[in-house]
Amino acid sequence: MSEQQPENSTPQPRPTLSILAPVYNEEAVLPELYRRVAAIMDSIGETWELILVNDGSRDRSAEVIAGLHRQDPRVKGLSFSRNFGFQIAVTAGLDHAQGDAVILTDADLQDPPELYPEMIAKWREGYDVVYGVRASRVGETWFKEFTAKIFYRLIYRITDVDIPLDTGDFRLMDRRVVNAIRRMPERNRFLRGMVPWVGYRQTGVPYQRQARFAGESKFSSVRQMLPFAIDAITSFSYFPLQMATYFGFLIAAISAVAIVVVIILRLLGPHPLTGQATTLVVVLFLGGVQMISLGIIGEYLGRIYDEVKGRPMYLVDKKWGLEDSNQ
Ligand code: UDP
Ligand code: MG
Repeated sequence: MSEQQPENSTPQPRPTLSILAPVYNEEAVLPELYRRVAAIMDSIGETWELILVNDGSRDRSAEVIAGLHRQDPRVKGLSFSRNFGFQIAVTAGLDHAQGDAVILTDADLQDPPELYPEMIAKWREGYDVVYGVRASRVGETWFKEFTAKIFYRLIYRITDVDIPLDTGDFRLMDRRVVNAIRRMPERNRFLRGMVPWVGYRQTGVPYQRQARFAGESKFSSVRQMLPFAIDAITSFSYFPLQMATYFGFLIAAISAVAIVVVIILRLLGPHPLTGQATTLVVVLFLGGVQMISLGIIGEYLGRIYDEVKGRPMYLVDKKWGLEDSNQ
């Protein structure tokens, strides 16, 4: 994709593990991320690479990645041409990771590298996916915690895949899971659902979700979280579409009863249901329901349009130590 030659082109043997972190304005955390990942991975004697996908950061993240790569060629990275979003950044990372297993983590050290040995041990036991289960969260707002709780439980109820409760994106994936995900071509990607969808043997290990090392959360307001929630639901459930059907049946049943009631009232005496207000309220209510149903169809239709266009998922600007995506 990129014509640029990798800066550090000594051929590296394939590492056993790829640590993958998407990066959006994380200049302050990257050196510390590298330090802690290197410390833990070297202490357990595994071969590894750290892949940093710079998702169009507006700070000096790209320079920091370049610097870390010069210092240690096991740090590799790529920069997008602009911000494509978390899910796509992870996708690009999976396209370039060489390891027999990939550990996906936040760049901000909310997911402690010290958990890797436990995840790797489970992987060696034969699990294909080892996800981190958030036993507790440190330093997050009650709003985020509360909405996360509701969101996971809602998703769990209405989607068709068993998305494990209280898990984020922090997880180890075996090569065959990574390859399976790479075969899923959808543009509206919701990895927290795609990984369980793949199947194989999956398990969780509990951990304490840490506070951010530095910088700010990119997903803290409703405006930032809502599109994510809608993608999650539309990617894995037809329930919103079916709601229109259920509602239609309900209204039809109520009106069938109402017709009989009105006829009887009419036979018993003059002028049952007088006034325009009743009619108006019913019409407005049904108008609202119809608009909402159209909106829901629109959400799905727009996503189908995204898929049909078949645009490339991301465009690469620069690469450090990475070849073109491995097929
Ligand atoms: N991120 C990204 N692209 C974006 C937004 C976020 O690559 O458009 C990265 C970010 O740098 C971090 C990870 O995704 O490594 C998770 O984001 P963040 O930590 O802000 O979210 P939170 O953990 O608060 O939910
Ligand atoms: Mg984070």
